[in-house]
Amino acid sequence: MNKIDKRLHFLLGKVKEECKKVKELSDYELKNKTNEFKRRLLAGETTEDILPEAFAVCCEADYRVLGMFPYDVQILGGIALHLCYLCEMNTGEGKTLTATMPLYLNGLTGKSTILVTANEYLAIRDAEEMGQVYKFLGLSVKAGVNRDTNEKLDNETKKDVYNADIVYTTHGALGFDYLINNLVRSKEDRFMRDFYYVIIDEADSVLLDSASMPLVISGSPRVQSNLYGITDFFVTTLVEDVHYTLEDKKVWLTTKGVEYVQRYFRIQNLYGKENYDILRHVVLALRAHFLFDKDIDYVVTDKGEMVLLDKSTGRKLNGMKLRGGSHQAIEEKEHLELSDEQRSVAAITYQNLFNLFPKMSGMSGTIADGKDELLEVYHKQVVVIPPNKPLARKDLPDKYFKTSEEQFDAVIKETVKRHNTGQPVLLIASLISDTEMLSKLLVQENIEHSVLNANNAFWEAEIIKEAGQRNVVTVATSMAGRGTDIHLGPGVKELGGLCVLGVGRMNNTRDERQARGRAGRQGEPGVSIFYTSLEDDVCEILGDDFLEKYIEKDKHISKRRIKKLINKSQKIKSESSVFQRKSSVDYDSVMQRQRTIMYKTRNDLIDGKNLDENVLVQIVGNNIDEFFAKHKNVDDFLMNRYILDNLSYRLKKLSISTADKKEYLKQYANRAFNDKKQLLGKRFSEYCRLCTLSALDEGWVEEVDYLQQLQAAISGRSTAQRNLLFEYQREARISFEDMEKSIKKAMIRNILLGEVSFGKDNEMIILYP
Ligand code: ADP
Repeated sequence: MNKIDKRLHFLLGKVKEECKKVKELSDYELKNKTNEFKRRLLAGETTEDILPEAFAVCCEADYRVLGMFPYDVQILGGIALHLCYLCEMNTGEGKTLTATMPLYLNGLTGKSTILVTANEYLAIRDAEEMGQVYKFLGLSVKAGVNRDTNEKLDNETKKDVYNADIVYTTHGALGFDYLINNLVRSKEDRFMRDFYYVIIDEADSVLLDSASMPLVISGSPRVQSNLYGITDFFVTTLVEDVHYTLEDKKVWLTTKGVEYVQRYFRIQNLYGKENYDILRHVVLALRAHFLFDKDIDYVVTDKGEMVLLDKSTGRKLNGMKLRGGSHQAIEEKEHLELSDEQRSVAAITYQNLFNLFPKMSGMSGTIADGKDELLEVYHKQVVVIPPNKPLARKDLPDKYFKTSEEQFDAVIKETVKRHNTGQPVLLIASLISDTEMLSKLLVQENIEHSVLNANNAFWEAEIIKEAGQRNVVTVATSMAGRGTDIHLGPGVKELGGLCVLGVGRMNNTRDERQARGRAGRQGEPGVSIFYTSLEDDVCEILGDDFLEKYIEKDKHISKRRIKKLINKSQKIKSESSVFQRKSSVDYDSVMQRQRTIMYKTRNDLIDGKNLDENVLVQIVGNNIDEFFAKHKNVDDFLMNRYILDNLSYRLKKLSISTADKKEYLKQYANRAFNDKKQLLGKRFSEYCRLCTLSALDEGWVEEVDYLQQLQAAISGRSTAQRNLLFEYQREARISFEDMEKSIKKAMIRNILLGEVSFGKDNEMIILYP
């Protein structure tokens, strides 16, 4: 027994001792234990101090309320979960009940305690069924998802949910809620408490398989502007050095050019706020025409799509888009259909989401296979909990075929054979298309069956529950109905229990064990066989040419050779996913660092942290310094433009006694600042906070969007990963610095140019420039 196991067993002994005492308590006394524990925690005892007693109380409540007393192995699992290990417990061992103990114990702290399940069905089911136990013991419990997944919970309901002592939800809902909670504009709209303890059900699927998929909140597509077309044409009428100047990969309008734009678009002042859109589009069109060259910076594909090129390598940057309308401007120049401008507003990966919990644990039937990776990436140890009753399922050796035709043929034959005896058969394929094919073949054999494609968890749970009944044939993908208990119907034990037929090698051995685990729960009989062929999806990795050579009709190939090839493919495939996940951790850590800074700043603002006025004035000054550094010759025209863009909508001649232009602007700015301050009086600091928040969000949204695109483009390329990562980090740092600068400009602009009115509750309504 290793050190961890010893500790778990030691604590198990303590829990069992307490169980004897607790048995004697009346219901009233048992319930009262919750208050006692809470008091003791407040008085300084730790959750570990009270673990034996609290677990015992929960076990007894499980028994009194649900009629199930946790087995010793479940108590062991519960302890391991509390100690933040990742627990491997076979399917059917009762993970749902196991989780009640650590959830109860951690719920007693009054801090946010959450269990995430694989789907909505399980979250609602477990919150209802296990919820009875917590309620009996005086803790509150809520499900964080709706039965109808299209119906979103409103803010008030969410507040209610996340205030509950124990929450059951899905990882998707939790992730999105976290992002939404960090997009709110005021304290009152927040609905989440700080994270404390989480148990992740099906942890391998969440922490490994879905880990690098980011959750992204997209803004609605921006309304497509009709200015792209007009400005695009307009720009073709311009003459270099008369209307615009090109220098150093930069392009700008000359004074003549500006006048020409004003005449052309019949406007008074191109730099006026009301003409911002025209200005922006003219600039975009100028850049599209004079800074971006076809076949150097981008190509136009046969499908009429514009794809950017990596200039150093000439490789296509598929999926990468230029920001802020540049992409559309180039599309317009090439007369292509304009793509939607849709931005990512917020994003996070599961890896980072769960790393936000000070205490994270997980459970799954198949997590031990990923233990090295989990240790490396999450610094989490896997503990394997032995089964309550020895496994009686027979896992027969895999069957190997050259073509999928032979493979499917054999699967159907086996199904028919077993079905004729009345034995239930569950066919599991990794691809949806394979489930459809199997279904067709079963129809040809006149075998009634259900097909589950992981579309609707509620409906599928109902069907898969029946998969262990006599004569029933079910076809499912590996994710469908995961986590739902399959009970054997009367007489099925005698027929050998449930028969699981796996179709095709899966991407990793975890998925296969998961499939086999549908049979043989709690020491029941069962059987599993996998049917594989060289046409399985995993073998794609060997390359089409290579495969074709083998699959040719008349060519003989030994079973041993097929086996070797298939095993090799699976190994490459799972190793490459491990590699991909590790690199996504590296990429994501960049965004994570930035997000931490931004969310902290944001939260401080929302919580009412006041901005130092001196700092604001200093930023105003810095912005002006920067403007002068950028423009060598600041003439009256530029001065006025700066004022209109940044300081005031009305150009006033102020009696400022200085000839120095920079000094003049600074004094002008200070007056504007003081005017605003006077106007708003007591509410000036609130106003500044809101203006800053708005600038912050605008900048951060751009940054998130940009990082998403940059990462997608860079990580899509596979060579020289290290350099790419380095490049990405550098780009990300630069863009973060740019963002900080633009936020500083925007916040001052917001403060000086924002227009305030007050609503009926005297709340501030700001019209931002
Ligand atoms: P898992 O999620 O580990 O696959 P479940 O939580 O779905 O397993 O539980 C499997 C079945 O075992 C359920 O029907 C549950 O009611 C039952 N069960 C779990 N623990 C116990 C127990 N201690 N005593 C009796 N039945 C139990």
